[in-house]
Amino acid sequence: MAGQRDYYEVLGVPRDASAPDIKKAFRQLAMKYHPDKNPGDKQAEASFKEVAEAYEVLADAEKRSVYDRYGHSGLRGAGMNSGFGSPEDVFVNLGDIFEELLGGGRRGGGGRRGPRRGADLEYPLNLDFLEAAKGCTKEIQYPKHAPCEPCNGSGAARGSQPVTCSTCGGAGEVTQVQVFLRIRTTCPTCQGQGRIVKERCTSCSGSGRTRVMEKLSVKVPAGVDDGMKIRHPGRGDLGDPGGSAGDLYVTIHVAAHEFFHREGVNVLSTIPVGYPTACLGGELTVTTIEGEERLVVPAGTPSGKVFTLRGKGIPSLNGHGRGDQLVQVVVAVPTSLSAREEEILRELATLHDEKVSEKKSGWFKEMLKSITS
Ligand SMILES: [Zn+2]
Ligand SMILES: [Zn+2]
Repeated sequence: MAGQRDYYEVLGVPRDASAPDIKKAFRQLAMKYHPDKNPGDKQAEASFKEVAEAYEVLADAEKRSVYDRYGHSGLRGAGMNSGFGSPEDVFVNLGDIFEELLGGGRRGGGGRRGPRRGADLEYPLNLDFLEAAKGCTKEIQYPKHAPCEPCNGSGAARGSQPVTCSTCGGAGEVTQVQVFLRIRTTCPTCQGQGRIVKERCTSCSGSGRTRVMEKLSVKVPAGVDDGMKIRHPGRGDLGDPGGSAGDLYVTIHVAAHEFFHREGVNVLSTIPVGYPTACLGGELTVTTIEGEERLVVPAGTPSGKVFTLRGKGIPSLNGHGRGDQLVQVVVAVPTSLSAREEEILRELATLHDEKVSEKKSGWFKEMLKSITS
């Protein structure tokens, strides 16, 4: 390995070159020295190999940092200089970029060969609090592609058939064998379809697909929460002929509720309680997601105290048990008092030695009302 050239020098980039710059330099040099363009030129082949090796190292952040610090011997020491010792590894590592360089006709998306899988679709489903807590079934409609009916998805005009692509023999990809690389690329003639439509269907212009509104009944399990997604495999968009359909993801959006709040599987709510009940104890009727429940409030309950109604919360999604409802009692303060109520409260204040506001005389109260209202 003596006299090995510096990788940055090989690619003609500065030592602080960015990843895109390195990729760009590599692409240009790989095109220049590619064996297809230089048949029988041993010098070009050696340069191509050198360029690919330099790129393999500099495109990998870890290898690049080892190389920057310790050079070629550092890479060898770390067992990182695969070079072309293993052509398959190089193909695996650089396969995508070679495909990009050579294939040209490859369409975007996933970098897969052969028929393309359909796209995943997303449907936002709005639920109210109780629908999410108790589960429900919703009929939804969403746009997707389906096989064109007149041509049965083939894209070929009535009475004609797609023919097998002669370039790839129907495989959808072609293999180029080189001195040290075996490269598979999407067939440039049929774009991976393996078939060619000579006479196009007039309904779909040869695409073989048409847009439809798909109907689906979505079972929403009890306990779903805001932001969760329900996956429906194969209910997404149509794939290429021979390719599978994508998936449909139903994303749950739960509206806020007037009384209930949710924390995981627990439901939180507040309930007003009169001062006498808080002091003397009593019974309240609490609304839960399943109906009404009795709540016994013991004598001497402070405002803000939280009571737990076991098992009255939201079912857990795994089907085991359910949460609780946490009920906070808040002592209600009346905004207007009858004369009798005021009399009792003033007496109570005297007993407690509380200094309360003076009693307003009748005419003064009226005047205050007229000012403030
Ligand atoms: Zn083909
Ligand atoms: Zn058609």
